[in-house]
Amino acid sequence: MTLFEKIIARQIPAQIVYEDATVLAFRDINPQAPVHVLIVPRQPIPRVGEATPEDQPLLGHLLLKAAEVAAQLGLKETGYRLVINHGKNGGESVPHLHCHILGGRVMGWPPG
Ligand code: AMP
Repeated sequence: MTLFEKIIARQIPAQIVYEDATVLAFRDINPQAPVHVLIVPRQPIPRVGEATPEDQPLLGHLLLKAAEVAAQLGLKETGYRLVINHGKNGGESVPHLHCHILGGRVMGWPPG
């Protein structure tokens, strides 16, 4: 069971900001911006590169809900960044697909 599956199963506490039948969004434990939320599918796809064509509705839902959650958190006007890390060079540390929602400050580019 991945760490995020444990959060989904309420075995590990998290500050949940949104949930539906397909995704869960909760505050990152080590925030990198004033607002830092992770949105994850309940289905434990390890990483984006392992998603299959059957996952297309799920991936679309994840992005649409990421934007909705960002708006709910007050980030729509000022802007925000969505990040998905794949593998070692991408900086992935939890093998359960997740999209970072970062906002509340100006983001640098290029990313580190
Ligand atoms: P990544 O490095 O893209 O795999 O992102 C994993 C994220 O999960 C990191 O930003 C961590 O701070 C975050 N994280 C790890 N453990 C927890 C936890 N128990 N609750 C919330 N976020 C967590």
